[in-house]
Amino acid sequence: MTSPMTAAANASVAPEPTSLPVRATPGPTRATPDPTQATPGPTQSTPDRFFVRRVYCVGRNYAEHAREMGGDPNREPPFFFTKPADAVYAVAEGVSAEGIAPGTVPYPPQTANLSHEIELVVAIGTGGRDIDPVDALDHVVAYGVGVDLTRRDLQDAAKQQRRPWDLSKGFDYSGPVSELVPAGVAGHPDAAPIWFDVDGVRRQTGDLADQIWSVAEIVAALSSFVELRPGDLVFTGTPAGVGALVVGDSAAGGIGGLAEIAFTVV
Ligand code: MN
Repeated sequence: MTSPMTAAANASVAPEPTSLPVRATPGPTRATPDPTQATPGPTQSTPDRFFVRRVYCVGRNYAEHAREMGGDPNREPPFFFTKPADAVYAVAEGVSAEGIAPGTVPYPPQTANLSHEIELVVAIGTGGRDIDPVDALDHVVAYGVGVDLTRRDLQDAAKQQRRPWDLSKGFDYSGPVSELVPAGVAGHPDAAPIWFDVDGVRRQTGDLADQIWSVAEIVAALSSFVELRPGDLVFTGTPAGVGALVVGDSAAGGIGGLAEIAFTVV
């Protein structure tokens, strides 16, 4: 737990921009720095670090999950919500400046129902607006796996009261993610198992092939609402089986052939 002295010390430290590690991949498929760029600035992504600008999330992108949340997967177009950029962190690294140990997710305040949503995470490397779905994958530089942590009790109350989801979705450390894998290495995965386990018991299972909206369609749709820029991340929705995490849980999840994530709730 954070002592008052630690909290005071942390409060005086300027936050660093959120960045994620990119898997080192020797050989010609590895992204190379733009030679026209001078030394990268603090928010200029490099082949080794992806600096996060904005974080968008897709709701209800797997039919079974749409049903378990009371929706109709056949009638609802994709919808989007956001998290603050600094809600995302590479969970294997932790956030040492904020006292978050590697491999941990702190249980958030103001909830008695912290829900897990394992998701494919898309990293935008080339911006654009009104992107054609045919070209949309050209805008994706890397992929990873992450968990869209949700204070489900706050979200349920917000839905009932027709209030915003912001604090049910966009709280501190609500977006633990894996390292990112360059698209030049991973390709553009559209069919792979996705899973999430708690204490060794399978909770969520699905396949990227079951996404209602493809990554290309999501990127295209999102770019009709906002101009995408390098550094944007998109959480693409979760398969069925969402459930609650409690302090002490040991969680692990992944996407076959892409990346895995593991953490303890503290
Ligand atoms: Mn989600």
